[in-house]
Amino acid sequence: QKTTSFKNASDTDFAQVVNRERAQAALKTVRPQLGKTILPYINGEFVETAESINSVNPSDPTELVAKIGMASIEQAETALNAAKAAFPGWKATPPTERARILRKAADLMEQRRPELSVWVMLEVGKELHQVDAEVSEAIDFCRYYADEMERLDRGHNYDIAGENNRLSYQPRGIALVISPWNFPIAITTGMTVAALVTGNCVILKPAEASTAIAAQLMQVLIEAGIPQGVFQFLPAKGSTVGAHLVKHKDVHMIAFTGSQEVGCQIYANAAQLQPGQKHMKRVIAEMGGKNAVIVDESSDLDQAVQGVVDSAFGYSGQKCSACSRAIVLEPVYDAFLERFVEATKSLHVGPADHPCTKVGPVVDETSMKRIQGYIATGKQEAKVALEMLAPNVSGAKEGYYVGPTIFQDVAPTAKIAQEEIFGPVVAVIKAKTFQEALDIANRTNFALTGGLYSRTPSHIEQAMAEFEVGNLYINRNTTGAIVSRQPFGGFKLSGVGSKAGGPDYLIQFLEPRTITENV
Ligand code: GLU
Repeated sequence: QKTTSFKNASDTDFAQVVNRERAQAALKTVRPQLGKTILPYINGEFVETAESINSVNPSDPTELVAKIGMASIEQAETALNAAKAAFPGWKATPPTERARILRKAADLMEQRRPELSVWVMLEVGKELHQVDAEVSEAIDFCRYYADEMERLDRGHNYDIAGENNRLSYQPRGIALVISPWNFPIAITTGMTVAALVTGNCVILKPAEASTAIAAQLMQVLIEAGIPQGVFQFLPAKGSTVGAHLVKHKDVHMIAFTGSQEVGCQIYANAAQLQPGQKHMKRVIAEMGGKNAVIVDESSDLDQAVQGVVDSAFGYSGQKCSACSRAIVLEPVYDAFLERFVEATKSLHVGPADHPCTKVGPVVDETSMKRIQGYIATGKQEAKVALEMLAPNVSGAKEGYYVGPTIFQDVAPTAKIAQEEIFGPVVAVIKAKTFQEALDIANRTNFALTGGLYSRTPSHIEQAMAEFEVGNLYINRNTTGAIVSRQPFGGFKLSGVGSKAGGPDYLIQFLEPRTITENV
């Protein structure tokens, strides 16, 4: 029976006028900064690049967020060499000093919360409440991993008479961090600072669609005092430069969050020993989900409907934790479906910076087309219960919108019930018994999050034992895991490696050593 003593950062209370005004003011401060060029930061210097790409606002793609200078393979080599040169010094830096830099970074992020939020809102189209929670999570990661490193640094003694035994931890070396666009501040910060505080040097290759946000994190780390060479910021093409680094003999570990396809490729490539390589690489890969929420006949439907709406449509379903299957027991199926459709209809779909918006755009045109493709498939496989027009708020411009879409009477084996769509699309599936509901829930390749709405103790107990997910939520929504309270991550094809924001996470960035002295 242990309760957590960690103090999480508080989200902003937007009911307070002053906080809404700060958000508006931040929008005014950040907008004039859009359209600038963001360059790689290699060995303490910004370097020019031969190629660049545009990062645009998904709510209005005519708004250029930033021009991104894309690093070449040669520049990646320079970054790697600088990281190698910085490693001995960083390894020798006391963990308390490394932890101090993380805590400083957390304080800076807290001070810049409104501006950071605006960058996320504009670059990846996330509405303010969702972004604000994400900034809290980023701050928590810094403070929590700082505490965790100090805990691990104490090591363990297993002494007996005449023999001293000490277990301690050392950093692995060079960590390549490949971050996702969907939690561009939280997950990028989490993976990066975990690698840094454990004494590794980091090359951060951010997702192309969220590079301007990652550049904000870079700025914070520089100001917090991260030494030159210890942290390299390397916007670059994943399929070329990213792949080159994954296979590189001098990279010791890769922390990745993204699609299952890319995660599996990284895992395979990292396993290939390269000429001159003297270690096995560690891969942490957080991949997809096809998360189900089971609603049984004893559930509180008010709670269930709200929970599924939040879990499915928050950030347009672009969370690996999002609900994309609602498995509903026959006696409440019709009532649930009707109320779920009605509740969804009340959502405002529009630009991320519009105050009414609950569902913003999806991240880019490729995503929009992929999701629309799944909706077309769904129409062949099942019946449409709701297909919302998007956007539905006034004054919205052309953006990458997909309206929330619900399919009913979906077969558990249908494509839309098996494949990760990563958009605002839900398959509602009918089950005759609770056992059948659990079997359906477990019958995918993924095991990330799951939800149960029930007031039947035996069902809750059975779900605890048999629902195959890394994070199971009972009578609440399935997204928004909080650092140190709900360590987050899955298994099966949802990922390898353990639980961000939990006590096992940092160990993965470290090599344990035992020293025995005969005394
Ligand atoms: N940790 C996030 C949550 O609990 C999801 C992370 C992701 O989508 O990659 O909602």
